[in-house]
Amino acid sequence: MLLFLGISISNALFVIELIRERYDAKTVIRNSVPSIFSWSEVYLNPYQGCFHDCTYCDGKSEHYHMHEDFGTRIRIKQNSPQLLERFFRKQGLRPVNREEKTLLHHLGVNEIQQEKTIAKFILFIGGGVCDVYQPIEEEEQLTRKLVELAYEYNVPVHILTKNHLVLRDLDLFKTINESSYASINFTITLNDDKIQKIIEPNASTSAERFSAIKSIRKEGIHSGVYFYPVLPFLGDSDNNYLEIFSNAKKVGAEFVYCWGLTLKPGRSKNEFLKTVRTQFPSYLPKYAKLYGNNNKYGILDYKQLKPLKVTLPEVKGFQYNYEFKIPYTAKRYIPPGRIQSNLALSEILMRAHHLKVNVLKEKSKEGGKLYKAALILEKCPEDVLRMNKNHYKMLFIPHEAEEYIIDYFVSGKNTKLKELEREVYQRIMS
Ligand code: SF4
Repeated sequence: MLLFLGISISNALFVIELIRERYDAKTVIRNSVPSIFSWSEVYLNPYQGCFHDCTYCDGKSEHYHMHEDFGTRIRIKQNSPQLLERFFRKQGLRPVNREEKTLLHHLGVNEIQQEKTIAKFILFIGGGVCDVYQPIEEEEQLTRKLVELAYEYNVPVHILTKNHLVLRDLDLFKTINESSYASINFTITLNDDKIQKIIEPNASTSAERFSAIKSIRKEGIHSGVYFYPVLPFLGDSDNNYLEIFSNAKKVGAEFVYCWGLTLKPGRSKNEFLKTVRTQFPSYLPKYAKLYGNNNKYGILDYKQLKPLKVTLPEVKGFQYNYEFKIPYTAKRYIPPGRIQSNLALSEILMRAHHLKVNVLKEKSKEGGKLYKAALILEKCPEDVLRMNKNHYKMLFIPHEAEEYIIDYFVSGKNTKLKELEREVYQRIMS
């Protein structure tokens, strides 16, 4: 099916031919390990391809096996709601917010009231590499159907988008947040409107996204900013950092997560450099040097940071997080039915790992050991704080994590992590 969308850029009207292709997917559910990026463990995305067509989009890389015309051909997994519902049922969930006639009811038997179920995971609708609120969603309403299902089955949700169309579903997010948890977040990386329109041509403006966060926060729903990817030279000036953090603070964003740009060799890198060549030619030699290592994961060449006067967003971002008193990651929501202390401790250890490995770039193995300890806690079926010494020993939790565990055990808080944050700030400022 063809659809024509009129896009006005610099007063000229371009008509873009958008192709929709519907198909039945074999699977839509993807599992992941919780991280400071998102505490979700279950991801799904009903679309392949994204009309926002951001020039830095990692999703265009051959690595993800997406189609070449990623920005103009949208593949729609039309059976996503059925697959999601099947997944919910397999997890033992019931549609507690939907009237459902069971077989017993049809047989005229008075049914015994069943207990309300609540998911033990957070569902990330989106993630991966295509925006679930891209313009096509306005007509398709496929993401809305998934959110409706999450509401019916009492499942907490996490959303990440660049489109204020997400506000259309605010009513549903409100009800989900009242019974469990909803977190609606925006990627915002460029405050300069002109640059933003060139780099993210068909997404909402940054101002629209900030305003959407304000509306979401007004309803008491969780929301934050993914300042990601921070674009070297185009989006890493003090001014851009200042604008993003000040606006985030003004609209009540609960966190600002900062991360850098990856350019995987192939389609993704070529397309981004093509935009730089045509729109910002003076930066091309710098980009060519910074990403000249052709790292297969698209990671920049650390040796070029100093000569090119580039500061990693993990470092510069943390400075702003600290000074603006805005957390560098969302606070973890732990669904009822999970072991609260284990997962809260895992959150502390993952944050400490991030500070040591990504912000301080410590060479010692301590950061890696903290991460290993966090993963053990994620899977541990017993509350570590209530274990006897022998059982605890059998978990083989690296000793580097012990001071954080004892601190949490004694104070019930994360004073050790707070100390580390203070120390990290002092070290990066010295
Ligand atoms: S919104 Fe995300 S998925 Fe869509 S083009 Fe932009 S970066 Fe890619």
